[in-house]
Amino acid sequence: MRYYILNIFLIIAGMAELVDARDSKSRDGDIMSVRVRFPVPKNRNKGSTMTVSDCVFCKIIARKLPAEIVAETDDVIVIKDIYPKAPIHYLIIPKKHITDLRSLEQADMSVVGKILLMVKKIAEQLSGSKAFRLISNNGLDVGQTVFHLHFHFLSGKKMLDF
Ligand SMILES: [Zn+2]
Repeated sequence: MRYYILNIFLIIAGMAELVDARDSKSRDGDIMSVRVRFPVPKNRNKGSTMTVSDCVFCKIIARKLPAEIVAETDDVIVIKDIYPKAPIHYLIIPKKHITDLRSLEQADMSVVGKILLMVKKIAEQLSGSKAFRLISNNGLDVGQTVFHLHFHFLSGKKMLDF
């Protein structure tokens, strides 16, 4: 009973949110009880601890978030970047949740090959075989913002800076 009153207080104070029993196994230890949990800090997803359920790209792949899909196979999806840095700016994403190139495993080798074949395909079919740049940011310090491996395909303008 004492915990119940404390939990009600926390919810009213906006310091916690209701959690039902199904959520009690989710996340990683931020559950205060079956009834409440403290909100997850907004910046928590900025590191490599991002889980599949937090992941924007996994949600896009599962059609739980909208995106402009330009190509898709069983293993790879290509979407338009919502903040394009070039006239053509696609994101090539393996459907498997892989945090970045540092977490690749031997079992991922065929997926990596399929990503590169997709690069070739979109270069030929979607950018008219123009010159293109392929970028993969691996880690917060170099600008990775979604911690699900992806490659930026940039084309349609001169990019002589590097
Ligand atoms: Zn993901």
